[in-house]
Amino acid sequence: MHFIDPHIHMVSRTTDDYEALAAAGVKAIIEPAFWQGQPRTQIGSFQDYFSSLVGFERFRASQFGIHHYCTIGLNSKEANNAALAEQVIDLMPLYLTKEGVVAVGEIGYDDMTPTEEKFFRIQLELAKDVDLPILIHTPHRNKKVGTYRSMDVIEEHGIAPGRVIIDHNNEETCKEVLDRGYWCAFTIYPKTKMGNERMVEIMKQYGSERVIVDSSADWGVSDALAVPKTANLMLQRGIAPTDIELVCYRNALTAYAQSGQFNESDWLNPTPVDQRMLFEGNSVLRGGQTPRVEEEPTAGIIR
Ligand SMILES: [Zn+2]
Repeated sequence: MHFIDPHIHMVSRTTDDYEALAAAGVKAIIEPAFWQGQPRTQIGSFQDYFSSLVGFERFRASQFGIHHYCTIGLNSKEANNAALAEQVIDLMPLYLTKEGVVAVGEIGYDDMTPTEEKFFRIQLELAKDVDLPILIHTPHRNKKVGTYRSMDVIEEHGIAPGRVIIDHNNEETCKEVLDRGYWCAFTIYPKTKMGNERMVEIMKQYGSERVIVDSSADWGVSDALAVPKTANLMLQRGIAPTDIELVCYRNALTAYAQSGQFNESDWLNPTPVDQRMLFEGNSVLRGGQTPRVEEEPTAGIIR
């Protein structure tokens, strides 16, 4: 089975993760722009981060046979620094139109402050201007209120729910998110609230339509293989393979293909991996390592 992880922060992961993802059948990943564990203090830090998402990280993934896409946005935590946030908003249009950018995100609420809401609304309008889907980060505290409020604001801006992926859902939020017509994403963190056992139960209750599974793996305790592992558990628990394919692959494809930048043909007809390649003169290999060079595409077989 092929998988997509539509929410994973690879800049903080290792090449071992890329190898494990490829071995597990993950064909494509989406890396949402987010914060990095501590607030940035200067606009240049955002610019270099956005540049790495569309530049070196994309290249690094390709060196392991993974197709890397990203979303560009000002996250809600850092939106609270209004002076810096204004500058990030001015910078965003430069990146939103770059190749491989599949949405505006992840945006939304953290503490639900008025400043967060101001920059949330500005970015909703930006998404309309550039005609991109939107990825919503729902708050980890006050989840239900924040999720409902996010949808209310999106609807005030006249954005169709089918253009919006709401992430970090749980049992408390998913019914409303699905009933209102949004894509409903679940982040599977190991050893926590939204583990993959609970995801199986949600699937049994709500089915597969507009449901998406992701890892949100980052620099914290998280599992880059959450999507294939959850798929395996679903299979063991008797969920139909067609439903598993929807939530672990096809729904993410359908949702983000609305960007015009996320095409299955990219990974069904892949360019062979060639680790002799360089990005601005730099390789993923270190002294003396033997480059992996594929002669023929290995992942071009359509099931
Ligand atoms: Zn994230």
